[in-house]
Amino acid sequence: MKTRFALTLFCLLVALILNQSCTKTSPATGNWYRGNTHTHSLWSDGNDFPEIITEWYLDNNYDFMALSDHNILAVGEKWMSLDKVFERQDVEGPTAMEKYRARYAGTDWIETRDNNGVEEVRLKQLSEYRSRFEKPGEFLIIQAEEISAKFEEKPIHINAVNLQEVIPPVKGTSVRDVMSRNLQAISEQEKLTGEPILAHVNHPNFRWALTAEDLAHVIEEEFFEVYNGHPRINHLGDDTRPGDEKIWDIANTIRLAELNGPPLLGVATDDSQTYHGGDTSPGRGWIMVRAKKLEAGSLIEAMRKGDFYASTGIYLDELTWDNASRTLSLEIRPDSDSTFTSELIGTRTNYNAADKNSIGEVLASQEGTSVTFNVPEDMLYARVTITSSRSATNPSYEGQMMQAWTQPVGWK
Ligand SMILES: [Zn+2]
Repeated sequence: MKTRFALTLFCLLVALILNQSCTKTSPATGNWYRGNTHTHSLWSDGNDFPEIITEWYLDNNYDFMALSDHNILAVGEKWMSLDKVFERQDVEGPTAMEKYRARYAGTDWIETRDNNGVEEVRLKQLSEYRSRFEKPGEFLIIQAEEISAKFEEKPIHINAVNLQEVIPPVKGTSVRDVMSRNLQAISEQEKLTGEPILAHVNHPNFRWALTAEDLAHVIEEEFFEVYNGHPRINHLGDDTRPGDEKIWDIANTIRLAELNGPPLLGVATDDSQTYHGGDTSPGRGWIMVRAKKLEAGSLIEAMRKGDFYASTGIYLDELTWDNASRTLSLEIRPDSDSTFTSELIGTRTNYNAADKNSIGEVLASQEGTSVTFNVPEDMLYARVTITSSRSATNPSYEGQMMQAWTQPVGWK
């Protein structure tokens, strides 16, 4: 905030001297909020209690989070045997139940029962635990579901964030049909309730389920996961199949060049499931959203405008796109002695569809924390990937460095 204030003051001074307006170059309004929209708990296949997971995000400097269990909301009475809670844990050390008991020791918060000789614990509903953690303007929990549909053996998972009622997965006649029908079910609920719902298509390369062409052609889709912290989602692709970032470029090129549709916007998420060690632990990927208020509606509105970026460790103090001068400016927050490489990536209008190298080309590269790119007129779109010299704290694949991804610009 101090930086923004200083920038505004500087701008006002310059404007006074030059007798010009500040509006063109002043930063967009709003605060940056950090959030994760893809998380699992004991309500589906996660291995910890929702309260413990929520507290982890609260303690680790997140402003908002969404627990997105498979095809279920944390609503209604749900009991789970302590054996089943224990089975989820595959590492040594205190069990989820022991930690839960220790956290709420001396209170009557935890409910257990004997069900014909089986000891069970009741999973708390979101409506019960949300007030323990939420604080207006400081920490927000958004209700969510990972709608987990499939076509044949291909998993088609779509997160619906800020939904009001559970949406059962919808079947269909092809991968694209399933994607489309589930996205339509989300938008129907949005229309019915008047509450905006953020829908993002998850981990396209998980079991190689979704291709870039699928993502391009299901035009209802606005967001997808350019990074997901689960280690088995084939983030980098393989010898014959593109990774998530290239999928983004291929899909956006098809959308803009052939379908006259808007580009997909990219989110980064945790998809965390294990909270006692284990390979799907939290804190790997998140989004930073520049919104007016820390409220679901305000966050989703900003995201639909593309006013956010995805990150696995890099923070931006400023991110400005000036459509008139086609200038994209970034201020990367310094991080001890890390160095940063920013690449401007995009596809030219005269690209060669047969040559994958002309799709999502690296157009320019800059080092340092203050970066300005001019986006040439002949681009379908351009976006920036920033890579730090520092390794990801808790990598999901070998050799992972901290990164951030800004949204496509220059396409309107
Ligand atoms: Zn999933």
